[in-house]
Amino acid sequence: LDPTNEQFSSEELDIERALRPLSFEDFAGQEQVLENLKIFVQAANLRDDALDHTLFHGPPGLGKTTLAHILANELGVGIKVTSGPVLDKPGDLAGLLTNLEERDVLFIDEIHRLSPIVEEYLYSAMEDFKIDIMIESGPNARTVQINLHPFTLVGATTRSGLLTAPMRARFGISSRLQYYTTELLSTIVERSAHILRVPISMEAAIEIAGRSRGTPRIANALLRRVRDFAQIKGNGNIDIEIAKYGLKALNVDAHGLDEMDNKILTTIIDKFKGGPVGITTLATAVSESGETIEEVYEPFLIQEGFIIRTPRGREVTELAYKHLGRIKGGTQGG
Ligand code: ADP
Repeated sequence: LDPTNEQFSSEELDIERALRPLSFEDFAGQEQVLENLKIFVQAANLRDDALDHTLFHGPPGLGKTTLAHILANELGVGIKVTSGPVLDKPGDLAGLLTNLEERDVLFIDEIHRLSPIVEEYLYSAMEDFKIDIMIESGPNARTVQINLHPFTLVGATTRSGLLTAPMRARFGISSRLQYYTTELLSTIVERSAHILRVPISMEAAIEIAGRSRGTPRIANALLRRVRDFAQIKGNGNIDIEIAKYGLKALNVDAHGLDEMDNKILTTIIDKFKGGPVGITTLATAVSESGETIEEVYEPFLIQEGFIIRTPRGREVTELAYKHLGRIKGGTQGG
């Protein structure tokens, strides 16, 4: 279950698509990642080669899918999109691979969820641009090797720890996406508001940005909801008052923490006296896997200063007590 991946209606999916940046130019933040990608793309274009296989990892909603599309645009090639859980037979993969044109991008989301058979099948495609396919059946069945056009596999994963070593080794480029600052998110909110043609004040954009858990997808989702409040309860413009009103009505946490973030903090405080607590023990207590906590939740909580990592485990900080309205050492009624 992915709490930051909301259930979108098809109209909302269309809006999400409309808000998606299409070029390096439109993409805000992740400077280090972008700087390198621009060079690799330029070099590949110059040589007329396919770009090296590229892996994006990091928490949901930070722009992995967006970057895959941008890469295809900047390479001037087509893109085919699929995901790990969908590709369950080597035959499906073969169909996709044989339809790729020279230098095309094949984007596989949630690549850590490929079945072992499909994954194995992908290896030779990635390495030698060759695959074996079975033709005919019964006594005439035989495999033939076919050559593929050189292509670029772009993989995305929220859980790089679950990728197998051989899979990981086949990516020439690997980039981890970081959470966005409030300042960057506010420029994203302003850009999205402009596309949605809703006037927004700078203050309101910053307010929405600050409550978006460092995540563009959440920032855009909050913007759309606040827009509804502005249209129904206000004059259509998003100013700071309507933004605050809407965010309060939506029950959005002041720091943008989600349910699991808050559960992790309260659990460490209530069950482990504020920590330190080992990741496995914590994971059991909140019914989530240790890897998910480490890769999806914890990075944000650490970045925002709610948790620190010590040699003996995770500890909550003063800020966490304050955020939850608790008094340190005061949970037992003392
Ligand atoms: P992921 O694949 O990492 O889950 P997406 O690429 O689907 O995330 O991004 C979610 C949404 O957030 C996209 O629709 C896009 O509009 C927006 N977004 C992501 N990164 C950026 C960015 N750097 N600048 C502007 N918008 C972004």
